[in-house]
Amino acid sequence: MNPQVLHQISYGLYVAASKHDKKMNGCIINTVMQVTDNPKQIIIAVNKQNLTCDIIEKSGMVSISILSETTPFSLFEHFGFQSGRNIDKFVNYPFALTPQELPYLTDHTTAYLDCKVISSYNLGTHMMFLAVVTDCEIISGEKPITYSFYHEYVKPQQTSSSKKGWRCVICGYIYEGEELPPDFICPWCKHGVEDFEKIE
Ligand code: FE
Repeated sequence: MNPQVLHQISYGLYVAASKHDKKMNGCIINTVMQVTDNPKQIIIAVNKQNLTCDIIEKSGMVSISILSETTPFSLFEHFGFQSGRNIDKFVNYPFALTPQELPYLTDHTTAYLDCKVISSYNLGTHMMFLAVVTDCEIISGEKPITYSFYHEYVKPQQTSSSKKGWRCVICGYIYEGEELPPDFICPWCKHGVEDFEKIE
């Protein structure tokens, strides 16, 4: 089996956000799919290590900001490589509120969806939520970003490093050491060992 095959599946990039007890948080996800048209329902998957996953479970609501091709790497760092347990990601960050009063991003966002969770499924590392779309609007109307566009044009290109070890191909995090532990999880983007390459 060649796990690289799974990289041939195309994805977009999104900020999933929610709010519970005045705590707002959002994180980067790549799994959003419309599954029915009447009613309009989507499924999303969120890594359980993300605080946003807990907040979606508690509130039963989620907003999706569909990111555009103009999105800078700094936005992925801000929402993807740090935890809302340590900082408030929406302080001094441009956002507006959906009709359910969930935050969505106003910059680099082509459109947003406001959703109510219908059911959730425990997938082990991730939770999958089935949600009905209660509102959605176009914001910038720019081209939505795909995961392959991110890898080609947004993620900083690898520079030759004097560090020895393993590099996360998703975010660029470097694990220093000869052998990568088999259960290692990237501390920035939460991807596993299959997304690390040895620095030669
Ligand atoms: Fe990473």
